Amino acid sequence: MKEALDRLRPRLMEIFTYLHAHPEISWKEVETTNYIVDLLTREGFSPQRFKNCTGLYVDIGKGNPKVGLRTDIDALWQEVDGEFRANHSCGHDGHMTMAIGALLLLKEQSQLLKGTVRVIFQPAEEKGTGALAVLEEGIIDDLDYLFGVHLRPVHELEDGTYCAALYHGASRLLEGEIIGEDAHAARPHLGVNAIEVGATIIEDLRTIHTDPMVPVSIKMTKFQAGGASGNIIPGKAAFTIDIRAQRNDVMETLALGVKRVIDSSKILHKVQIELRTVANIVAAEVDTTAQYIMEQAIVKAAGLSNLRKPVHTPGGEDFHHYAVQRPHLKSTMLGLGCGLTPGLHHPKMKFKQARLVTGVEILTNAVLGALELEP
Ligand SMILES: [Zn+2]
Ligand SMILES: [Zn+2]
Repeated sequence: MKEALDRLRPRLMEIFTYLHAHPEISWKEVETTNYIVDLLTREGFSPQRFKNCTGLYVDIGKGNPKVGLRTDIDALWQEVDGEFRANHSCGHDGHMTMAIGALLLLKEQSQLLKGTVRVIFQPAEEKGTGALAVLEEGIIDDLDYLFGVHLRPVHELEDGTYCAALYHGASRLLEGEIIGEDAHAARPHLGVNAIEVGATIIEDLRTIHTDPMVPVSIKMTKFQAGGASGNIIPGKAAFTIDIRAQRNDVMETLALGVKRVIDSSKILHKVQIELRTVANIVAAEVDTTAQYIMEQAIVKAAGLSNLRKPVHTPGGEDFHHYAVQRPHLKSTMLGLGCGLTPGLHHPKMKFKQARLVTGVEILTNAVLGALELEP
């Protein structure tokens, strides 16, 4: 495999350079999708575009078991050298390069494959909803395994080291509206003061208790009420609450707690309060077998001395929707230490591109490992 990788190396660097120079934001990855479809078609694959969104998937081999490999394909919109533009500062260009590399490597041994490998090019990871759109396409249901990958900054994994699982946290953003009644500041008994309702909510959020061994955070992050006339008691207010937990069951406890706080405030203040979830990222559900296969894949490609413990990170990743929505799926994400500085989402983010070749080797080992282990 090392020989084949050496042959592939210049090609992979070319692919990365193209993708890096052509970033597209979430749901608008049109040219990215076209480029990958064309490239894979020329290589003899039969890529399938998603029916309802950008992105694609491609199968190699046939029959069971079925092992998935997922890459995200979108870039961010940010200011780079004084100009606002799309920018691949989360490394999804590198992830795509590795997924394509794994396909090109697998093609050389396709006659030996005992099952199907499905490589998924998922749109809109940065929106947190691309994975949900791919689930709707119905191409996840028949998979036994699903592997993902993300580059890690140097403060999480030093250059040339790798981990077999990424424990992202869960986060949820709630938007609410308090609908009370305006009153003259001299006649507070004739209205409902939305600011007083807000104060009750903030106070009562502190009464939500969860397992103290699991890190959580629950904070009101916006509260707007009142206007230019300070002699009016404001009846209406808009607010947001940001909740975070390192485990999905604890996130559910927090969400139920918020509902209890809002319901009791409604009764206490005789007021209407509307609350809706506007963003929902689930925490990692790492499968131990998938993690074990990934560990073996890392050791085989990079040696035991470069295997690190799983990384726990407060950031979010929509990859974990797959395992939460399809609990039969054995999944994990590879963390790739590649000298990445100064950090993900930084407009000047850079990393050692040569590590992508090791990433291709690890991911290829992982899918082959999963095919052999599955009866
Ligand atoms: Zn990102
Ligand atoms: Zn990312």
